[in-house]
Order: sequence, then structure tokens, then C-alpha cells
Amino acid sequence: MTGPHRWRNRLQGRVCRWTAPREAVLDLLSRTSEHLSAKEIYAALHRKDPSIGLTTVYRTLDLINSLGFIHKIIMSKGQARYEFRSDKPDDHHHHLICTRCDRIIDYSEFEKEELDLIKRTEARLSRKYKFQIVDHSIEFYGLCDECRQKAEPSDQTKKKGGVKNA
Ligand SMILES: [Zn+2]
Ligand SMILES: [Zn+2]
Ligand SMILES: [Zn+2]
Repeated sequence: MTGPHRWRNRLQGRVCRWTAPREAVLDLLSRTSEHLSAKEIYAALHRKDPSIGLTTVYRTLDLINSLGFIHKIIMSKGQARYEFRSDKPDDHHHHLICTRCDRIIDYSEFEKEELDLIKRTEARLSRKYKFQIVDHSIEFYGLCDECRQKAEPSDQTKKKGGVKNA
């Protein structure tokens, strides 16, 4: 059940002025399972409405991110990608991010174990730091299978060459 109706309910009373760009950005993100960059979002929206500028897109993303409607994923080189933050518990997922090709893998395995651990950790941290925790995000960085396989042959040649020379 994606689409505008779900998040429109969540907006009630949270934003004083709900502008067209804000609606357009949320609508776009809520209809895709992809993780989009600001430039990709800008390109898609600008095609439909040429009055939307890149600065507006950046500002809009910051705002709806701070309101908790989207999740900002920081990539390995510091760029950001964005995804819609679902309020459905079965959409709970985290990310494996390839530092070479920027591929993002959504995973939701081990969710039960993870949430058990997270809840315990949160309770302890809240007590210790008197900090009210509302959410968490987990990103693992590394090499995807494809990039790992591409990386391996040259490593092996180097090793074999070393052995021959010895
Ligand atoms: Zn990769
Ligand atoms: Zn994701
Ligand atoms: Zn989690």
C-alpha cells in the first residue's frame, strides 16, 4: 500500500505549509523502492514541472528528512541517497552499501534478533544518557559480490607472481 494517501495522513498538523515541491518529492519517493539521489529526484520532477529547481529539491529533502518522512543514506564517498520511510513494521530494513559501485542492498533478515538487541541497547543508552531514542539506522559498507569477484583475479595474479619470483 504505497502512494500519497498513507503519508498524507501522517502530515496532518506537522507542517504548516504543505507546498507542491514537498508533495511531489514525497509522492515520488513513496512510489519507488529505489534509493534516489537529490539529482535523480530533481531530474524526475523537473521533467514534469520545469519550475522546480535543484535548490528547492535539496531544501525539501532536508525538511522532510528532519520531519522523519524519509531516510537519508550516506554513501561511502559522502553523497546522499534518499528513500521513503515506511511506518509499516514489515518494511523494517537496513542496508549493505558497496563502496565501489554504490549498489545498495536492502536486507530484512535477522530482524527479530536485531530488534531484540536494539531494544535492550536503546533502554540502556536512554537510561545512561537520559536520551529519548526514537529511531535507528544501520548501514554496512563493503564490496558487493560482483565487485569482489572483479577485484579478486588481479589479487590472485599478484600473489602467484610473488610465489614464482620467490
Ligand atoms: Zn559493487
Ligand atoms: Zn532501503
Ligand atoms: Zn533495525
